[in-house]
Amino acid sequence: MCVYCRLCSSAGFSFEDGNNDKTRALQASVVLQNVRSARQIFGRSLQALMIDVGSCNACNLEVLNLSNPYYDLTRLGISLTNSPKHADALLVVGALNPAMVDVLKRTYESMPEPKLVISVGACAISGGIFRGTEGFVSSVREVIPVDVTVPGCPPSPVQILEGLLLAAGRLRKEAPP
Ligand code: SF4
Repeated sequence: MCVYCRLCSSAGFSFEDGNNDKTRALQASVVLQNVRSARQIFGRSLQALMIDVGSCNACNLEVLNLSNPYYDLTRLGISLTNSPKHADALLVVGALNPAMVDVLKRTYESMPEPKLVISVGACAISGGIFRGTEGFVSSVREVIPVDVTVPGCPPSPVQILEGLLLAAGRLRKEAPP
């Protein structure tokens, strides 16, 4: 469940004041950056690799929750892999640490084309609570191209799943102008 710190707002996400259903407000703001015919490219199968570039571990846990029997990610043809060579999508969590910039670039470059990038959580978007510290260099999208952004601190598994389905072309959502 998101702590609703609003630190994603520095990257252009808006939050409605007075909205009691905070989770729903955040769910509505998952953003597709690039419109691609991803479904034509990937069919109904998608392998996703998660990389932690400096998180508090909460975003990681929410991503890994997708594999439990409740969310059962594999029923949707999506599974988590540990190898960039097998990955169609890269899930990036955490505030980009100086030591991880090159690792992130090399991981992205190691993935076969075509490939998608999903930026997960306030830290990956803007540095979140680590912004302004020496442990944060830049947002993920300043280092590698990002296709889908999932806000929240942490985002719920449902929001992350929405991001994966958007990336895979299973959900319809227009990119912002
Ligand atoms: S966005 Fe929040 S939950 Fe995710 S890594 Fe950053 S501080 Fe942790």
